[in-house]
Amino acid sequence: MENIFDNLVYIWIAVALLVFPIALFVKAPYGRHFAGQFKTTIQNKWGWVIMEAASPLFFTFFFFYGDVEKTIFHWVLFSLFNAHYINRSFIWPFRIRSGNKKMPLLIMFSALLFNVINGTINGYFLGQLATFDVSWQLYLFYPALLLFLSGAAINIWADNKLISLRKPGETGYKIPKGGLFDKVSCPNLLGECIQWTGWALMAWGPATLSFCIWTWANLLPRALDHHKWYKEKFENYPKERKAIIPYLL
Ligand code: NDP
Repeated sequence: MENIFDNLVYIWIAVALLVFPIALFVKAPYGRHFAGQFKTTIQNKWGWVIMEAASPLFFTFFFFYGDVEKTIFHWVLFSLFNAHYINRSFIWPFRIRSGNKKMPLLIMFSALLFNVINGTINGYFLGQLATFDVSWQLYLFYPALLLFLSGAAINIWADNKLISLRKPGETGYKIPKGGLFDKVSCPNLLGECIQWTGWALMAWGPATLSFCIWTWANLLPRALDHHKWYKEKFENYPKERKAIIPYLL
């Protein structure tokens, strides 16, 4: 069974590697990149709730379904994953100031499908297969946890900063400034990528690695699109600022 699972996850990783070059050329049409191209839409915040809530639901179901003996390492990972997704599904959507903005249903269903698969894969792996009984893995766990927490802190800090750019009722865009925003256009996306890289290293396996690869494959092109958009929209956009990796990209 473990072999079948791993092989399915390798196919899922291959899909991410195919999606990556496509995403470099095709902008995901939500947020600032949605200009009414699709007619069937949902209110932005409800789109976020529905698509993201699938992740903790499927993750939690498969975590408990699996009968591997759960250690403190399993519970730490379980709590971190769910803490992130409870914020993203049930708190963050009600804090963003997106007014009456809409999201295409196509985006919502694509992300929903991703979250069902990703939640299932990671929950099944942690609940049924993951063991933490080899010494190298434990040595890796703590620095990787630090990486995860640093990424989460950057992501939450940057999300908050973006929310604070708009006063209640505003829906326009401003140039974000301060902290990592002086180095890159999208520290929120950088934080998310660091976070799931830490996740993959904390519980090493094809399942957790697949989440890390998917996150980079999705968010690197999105950050490049955001960066290009900022430069086109604001004549005075800081020239030295990169898209997602300070000084590099
Ligand atoms: P964005 O940075 O595009 O938008 C985040 C929020 O901030 C939106 O409400 C947006 O408004 C607002 N905003 C952004 N820039 C500005 C600005 N310059 N001035 C005023 N308001 C602004 O992030 P995404 O929508 O791409 O992602 C949201 C979160 O979800 C991120 O934390 C990201 O890491 C995470 N995510 C994770 C993925 C994964 O694969 N793990 C995939 C996608 C997202 P508006 O909606 O009006 O543009």
